Order: sequence, then structure tokens, then C-alpha cells
Amino acid sequence: MSYRTEEVAYVQPAVQPAANVQATQRSTAEYRALDAAHHIHPFSDMGSLNRSGSRVIVKAQGVYLWDSEGNKIIDGMAGLWCVNVGYGRKELADAAYRQMQELPFYNTFFKTTHPPVIELSAMLAELAPEPFNHFFYCNSGSEGNDTVLRIVHQYWATQKMHSKKVVISRKNGYHGSTIAGGTLGGMGYMHEQMPSKVENIVHIDQPYFFGEAEGNLTPEEFALARAQQLEAKILEIGADNVAAFIGEPFQGAGGVIFPASTYWPEIQRICRKYDILLVADEVIGGFGRTGEWFAHQHFGFEPDLITLAKGLTSGYVPMGAVGLHDRVAKAIIEHGDFNHGLTYSGHPVAAAVALANLKLLRDEKIVERVKTDTGPYFQKKLRDTFANHPIIGEISGAGLVAGLQLAEDPKARKRFANGGDVGTICRDFCFNGNLIMRATGDRMLLSPPLVINKLEIDEIVAKAKYAIDATAQQLGIS
Ligand SMILES: *Cc1c(COP(=O)(O)O)cnc(C)c1O
Repeated sequence: MSYRTEEVAYVQPAVQPAANVQATQRSTAEYRALDAAHHIHPFSDMGSLNRSGSRVIVKAQGVYLWDSEGNKIIDGMAGLWCVNVGYGRKELADAAYRQMQELPFYNTFFKTTHPPVIELSAMLAELAPEPFNHFFYCNSGSEGNDTVLRIVHQYWATQKMHSKKVVISRKNGYHGSTIAGGTLGGMGYMHEQMPSKVENIVHIDQPYFFGEAEGNLTPEEFALARAQQLEAKILEIGADNVAAFIGEPFQGAGGVIFPASTYWPEIQRICRKYDILLVADEVIGGFGRTGEWFAHQHFGFEPDLITLAKGLTSGYVPMGAVGLHDRVAKAIIEHGDFNHGLTYSGHPVAAAVALANLKLLRDEKIVERVKTDTGPYFQKKLRDTFANHPIIGEISGAGLVAGLQLAEDPKARKRFANGGDVGTICRDFCFNGNLIMRATGDRMLLSPPLVINKLEIDEIVAKAKYAIDATAQQLGIS
């Protein structure tokens, strides 16, 4: 007698009529009171924030946000540099919904895998430059950079170069806010509040021409000199002790600092000469921001590891990843256990959303549009609008990312004495004008969704001009 398992047809439970998922609608005052009572915000002075009250963002579509007062705000920052495909893309919501019903979670630790993480890895290998064929997943950019340190260490162990331990990073770089990410970053105010730091991390100076170049150096000469600090540091520590150099192709949170074209080729030359791994933190630069799929392609160099997050899912759900150059991947794959992982490494819902996001970026030719159309338009519009402006000293950027340097005397490259104060004044004018433009010290930053059109670019630039003019006026400069 043979037993045959009865095929039980899986019956999809009927979808309930839309419950009010918007939850309770409260007044702005109620939201603010509850937020102040129970929520600690990241990177904030909670005392002063609670006195002034947060802006409550309730919905978004395309490049626009709405607050609880009904104000329509244009988002010049794509959230936090991440909403590359813009808000309200149903394809991403559908991908998450379907995946949650099919397989909401399974781990990839114990000899198991699942279709979304497989498809995503194959897709990333297709989109990334040729030598990047392997990807490790995590939940954020910070965890990506923690993972980078683990991979770098394991790589040199496999090469029997156990003394190669030091990682060289840069002042005013940003690599996240775990202890490792914060230590790699060069933000002094973060270092001051860390209980302890990761060992074997040192910093060299950043290629910030406007703020730090002395004498009559050209931007190219200055960038070359800053890159050569890497060589000096390696010689000081001893090449046998240096494992890697990490940098953002352009510094994002540090102020959209774009190094001159001489910088990255020299960094690459030095890394190769002394056998040092080169890590590009592509958390902001990746997925089209400069008009290339990855920012290292814009600057023309080939890293050994790339850190990914933000635009990987357009921020719809959290996910980070590290891409390994074949050379590094081979060493990790062929040498036994790699003792690192996170419960949600390759999370199926995040992977499904990332895949849907990458398909949109590719199939709608969003990255190409940034490169050939909207990016050049945005850059030209900014340069035309702010040429000879009395408080704009420099405009940096490419594609759909830009930094505007506020300066007391633009021609003399003289910055404001209390730069951050001027940035805050300008940011407040933007806020009141319903434009999201971020201030980092005395640099104003823009990084809109990559789906932005020319009319919307005009709106951002017009609102930025209003805010910067108002700032100059308040300072009594005209
Ligand atoms: C945002 C950012 C990170 C950190 O990512 P999280 O997801 O916030 O942990 C790391 N590197 C760079 C370049 C970033 O901009």
C-alpha cells in the first residue's frame, strides 16, 4: 500500500478591507508632545528639540513630503541620501507584500538560502563593475563597514600576513555610527562620546580644497598632496603593518567634498605599491548618485571592497551589503569559516525590495538619465544661479549631488568664523520655505531623488536661492 500525501491547496486568506493603518490621527501638538515624551532622536540635542518641537512628516510622493500641518515640502535630500527612486513606488511595496506572504524570514547561516537573496546577488554582480561578483549582506552602512573590517582582517590572515592590521581612514570622513563605523569616521564630536574605539585605525587629512588648501596650490596639486599623505603614513607605520585604506569616493556627510581628478588615481597607485586593500564606501555614491552606477567609476579607480546601503533599497526597508573584488572573494571562499553574520543577513523582504528597486533603476534608465540629462542640468543650473553670489565660495558635485560652500569672502576662500551658525541660519530659511536642504557646518547640501525632473530641479534651485539670499541679507552682506 502506498501512501500519497494529499495535496492541500493553500488558500490565500481573504484580504481584509483596509483597516485604518494610518492609526490614530492626532493633532500636530499631540504628536509633538508624545514624541518629546518618549522618543530619543539620532544626532540631536533632545532638550532643545523638545522645546521647539519636531516637524511631523506624514506622507510622501515622488520628490515631495507632506507634514502634519498640510505643508508640501520638496525633498532636496532624498530622505537621508537614500530614496533614489523617489517616494510612493508601488513596485517596491508590492515586492515586500508578496515576499512577506511567501517567506517573510529565513536565515542564511546554516546551509540554507532563498530565492530573493540569490536573485539580488546575481543582479548586483550584473550591475557592478566586472571584478565584483560576491556580496555579503547586513542591515545598514555602519554594519557594512564593520563587515569590511572583518573581511580585511580575514583576507590578510589567509595571506599569512598577520601583521597587516592598521586601517587608514580620513578626518571628516563618515562611515556610520556603530563603534567601528564611528572610529573609522573622522568626526571629532563622535569620537569624543565613544566609550572606547576600535584598535588600529588612524586618520590622514581630507582633500577639502576650499577649506584647507594653503598658498597658491591648484586643486589638482592640493589633491595630490593630500593623497600623498597616505604614502607618508604607510611609511611611518610600515607597509607590513597596514591592512587597508578606506574612503568615500566623495565625502557625503562631511560636506559633499569632491576631490580633484588627481586624488583617487594617486591613492590607488599607493595602495597597489604597498599591497594595501582599497575600500570605497559607496553608501551614498552607489546606485546612480553621480550618474554612474558607483561613484568609484566616476572617479576612475578600482577598489577591492565596496560598502553599500542607502540607495540599495532606496531606503524603503533597511539593508546594507559589502561587495568583494574577485581577488578578495577567492581568499575568503577558499579558507574555511568566515565567522561573521547577522540574523538578518540577506533578509528575504529586504532582498526582494532591493531587487525591485534595482530593476526600476535599470529598466527605467534612471541612472543614465542622471548622467546625460538631469544631472548636467542640475549642475549647470546651480553654477549659473550662484556664479558670483556674495556668500557662495564653491559649488561641488556631479550628477544629482551638490555642496554649496557658504563663505564670508568667496574670492579669498575665507570661511565664516562660526561656520555652523551661518549654515543653521540658511537651513532654517530652507525649512520655512518648504525645501529640505541639509547644512553641514557652512556647506549646504543637496542630493534629491534620482527621479527628479527639470521643473522640480528649478523649484529646488529657486528655493535654495531664496534661502541663501535671505541668509546673506540677515548677515548684512550684499
Ligand atoms: C550613511 C552612511 C553610512 C552609515 O550608514 P547607516 O545605514 O546609517 O549605518 C556609512 N557610510 C557612508 C558614506 C554614509 O553616508
